[in-house]
Amino acid sequence: MSGSEITGNREKVMSTHKCLEEGRTGLVVPIVDFNRCEGKDACVAVCPYNVFEVRKIDRSDYRELSFVGKIKSRVHGGMVAYTPHADQCRACGLCVKACPERAIKLVKV
Ligand code: SF4
Repeated sequence: MSGSEITGNREKVMSTHKCLEEGRTGLVVPIVDFNRCEGKDACVAVCPYNVFEVRKIDRSDYRELSFVGKIKSRVHGGMVAYTPHADQCRACGLCVKACPERAIKLVKV
């Protein structure tokens, strides 16, 4: 992925290059698609700013999953990546590249 064109759900995503040059927080946040995420920890391993935490999916989030998402969730033990420190994201894009499920996108705030 180029790091500059991550789109979806009509949300605008800014250039990661701009963020990196400025090293600023508060420009984008990572959004994790729980229907795709399997809690494999790749994002935790690569994020330099400890944005992610992998843990059991909350009941309310589980209820929001698609039918297939619920089946997948049961298969991988219901583990997903939350973003308790999303405000520390500097849009380096490492998590987007590292996620084997392509579950993460960066969204302009
Ligand atoms: S884009 Fe970089 S700083 Fe932001 S959550 Fe992903 S790995 Fe962490």
